[in-house]
Amino acid sequence: MNWLTNFVRPKLRRLVGQREVPENLWHKCPGCGEMNFHRDLARDLWVCQFCGHHMRLAADVRLNMLFDEGAYTTLSLPDTVSDPLKFRDRKKYVDRLREARAKTGGRDALIVAHGTMGGHRLVVAVLNFDFMAGSMGVAVGEGLVAASRLAIVERVPLIVVTSSGGARMQEGILSLMQMARTTVAIEELKEAGLPYVTVLADPTTGGVSASFAMLGDVAVAEPGAIIGFAGSRVIEQTIRETLPEGFQKAEYLLDHGMIDMVVHRSELRDTLVRIIGLLCGRRTGAGAEGAPPQPGKSGPADEDSTRAGDGDERDTPIAPAPAGGGAAP
Ligand SMILES: [Zn+2]
Repeated sequence: MNWLTNFVRPKLRRLVGQREVPENLWHKCPGCGEMNFHRDLARDLWVCQFCGHHMRLAADVRLNMLFDEGAYTTLSLPDTVSDPLKFRDRKKYVDRLREARAKTGGRDALIVAHGTMGGHRLVVAVLNFDFMAGSMGVAVGEGLVAASRLAIVERVPLIVVTSSGGARMQEGILSLMQMARTTVAIEELKEAGLPYVTVLADPTTGGVSASFAMLGDVAVAEPGAIIGFAGSRVIEQTIRETLPEGFQKAEYLLDHGMIDMVVHRSELRDTLVRIIGLLCGRRTGAGAEGAPPQPGKSGPADEDSTRAGDGDERDTPIAPAPAGGGAAP
């Protein structure tokens, strides 16, 4: 059956020829159900013009949106073992990987790029939800470590955009270990006195929310994004209580002090440029974890923290991350 649907049908379709009308001229908004014309959506950064619903973005669209003139260089990430547990559920994990790679053109769910944003040099790591729900396995963990080390070597800030269902169950405990690894990688960045900003896009859940996603000096979220650890239905069934309206939505988390701001996508880039400008202007070294500077508030810079982190000795030398990779438009 698979052979018929995966192999024969595409061949037949190619023989018969392309359909005249592309399938994706209109997109139905998951928020309100209205149809959006694809050109309008691209112009509005994939925000529904009827209800303001922020649709999920492909990782390359996100990178184009953030970097100056959409120009960036991607980092070729370290090779990792593909299927350490020889895992199989309804499908083999290697087959799932192969499909995801064919669909997205990426090797795994994380893309790391560097370039400039608003004139600031920086590293941006984006989780690609299209790749197995942006789940974090060894490759993503390794990629995030590489992103952090690149930022440290270049002495630039790191922005991570998360959109993930959590740890990748096909890699079992190895995927859970990435929570600790990524946390240490971010800690190294903070010890080096470099800004770390997270952009929490829909959805940011599971092991990703329980590790590097929630460690930002400033945590920015997109409107309506689901952010949480376990799904609301699981929580409801466990505690046997009805959860409040809007539970696990970005706005709810903002009201309860879990994140710093909820920013409309049209203002996201400018906001990030402003945050990075503020954080770089008063880079504080070891004191970075204290109180993250609030954009918009112009408090006095910490007097005692200048250059505190510059000369700190560390046991483990920072391995320079492999540079290079393909350039994107
Ligand atoms: Zn809508």
